[in-house]
Amino acid sequence: MRATLVFLGMLSFLAPEGAVARLRVAATLPTLGAVVKEVGGDRVEVSVLASPEEDPHYVDPRPNLILVLNRADALVVNGLDLEVGWLPPLQAQARNGRIQTGAPGYLDASTLIPRLDVPTTPVDRAQGDIHPGGNPHYLFDARSLERVVRGVGEFLGRLDPEGAPEYGRRAETLAGSLEAFQREQAARIAALPVEKRRVVSYHRSFPYLYQWLGLEEVATIEPRPGIPPDPGHVARVLATMKATGARVIVQETWQPRNTSQTLARLVGGTVVVLPGGVDLSRGESLLDHLRQVAGGVIHALQH
Ligand SMILES: [Zn+2]
Repeated sequence: MRATLVFLGMLSFLAPEGAVARLRVAATLPTLGAVVKEVGGDRVEVSVLASPEEDPHYVDPRPNLILVLNRADALVVNGLDLEVGWLPPLQAQARNGRIQTGAPGYLDASTLIPRLDVPTTPVDRAQGDIHPGGNPHYLFDARSLERVVRGVGEFLGRLDPEGAPEYGRRAETLAGSLEAFQREQAARIAALPVEKRRVVSYHRSFPYLYQWLGLEEVATIEPRPGIPPDPGHVARVLATMKATGARVIVQETWQPRNTSQTLARLVGGTVVVLPGGVDLSRGESLLDHLRQVAGGVIHALQH
């Protein structure tokens, strides 16, 4: 252990003049990690707390995440209560003032976007509703991501002013490709007849995605966010699918598939299972991921 430390010390001593200490940024979710990585480039070292296979409402608070947060210079979170069940204890145990809620090193990316599903009447979390402050699932939407990309660029520039011009340039380039991608997908959707633009979701994970693509969600298999379906509700979803002609069911990898598959079979439809986030371990980019998400839904609607 000691030998390793000495060796690392020598390496940094030998580092060429002008080499910068990289900003250590933790992101709660893989898609936010991808944004930080693509905007931060070589000046930033990114750690992601949740894996793309994990439901972001219920991430396993592994002890090594405390270490990641203890060492981080900054923390980027999704917000809108998505991480409320697992992140606050990790932040507390990390004993790192830089990444506490409200600190300059803390960015709640939901403050950068216009919110959907904001409740107009009080929501009772005790009844299982897990979207009390508005819908938190905006990371599937290229338009929201465009704002998040620019906001992350400004955030990194505040923490590392020397890198600000580079963050700004990288953010603009990425936001520009997201904009081009939005137009490309909108054109594909516009070619679909209106009656083919109706979908059913398992969880209310996609209102931002549907608004971007111009799709209409006619039902969710969960009666309320976080509440598993009961037979009466499933029967109502089936009736709605028959009445509206919706034949495509969209869900994420971690949600149970049996009800979705049964409903799809009964109406001769398809289940589209979307990846929950960018898979950085496979070298995926933000645009690769969005192509998979939008492409998966559009492909199913076309058939
Ligand atoms: Zn949710």
